[in-house]
Amino acid sequence: MLRIYICPNCYNFRMVSRKPDAICFHCGTVLESCDVNYDTYMNMSEADRSELKNKYKIRMSQANEIIKDC
Ligand SMILES: [Zn+2]
Repeated sequence: MLRIYICPNCYNFRMVSRKPDAICFHCGTVLESCDVNYDTYMNMSEADRSELKNKYKIRMSQANEIIKDC
């Protein structure tokens, strides 16, 4: 079964089958798994996908701020 992964560096989505150590085609960063499954992703519109990307960006930048604050 395919899973959706996202690059924490350039935020590109990639479909991966069963590889826990998937790497981004664009920048070589190790991908993180997305909380969206394949079927959901395939049914999403372009607008939904960019919204998902934006949410992920916000979450990543918040996580970085928490690390800086420590
Ligand atoms: Zn990337």
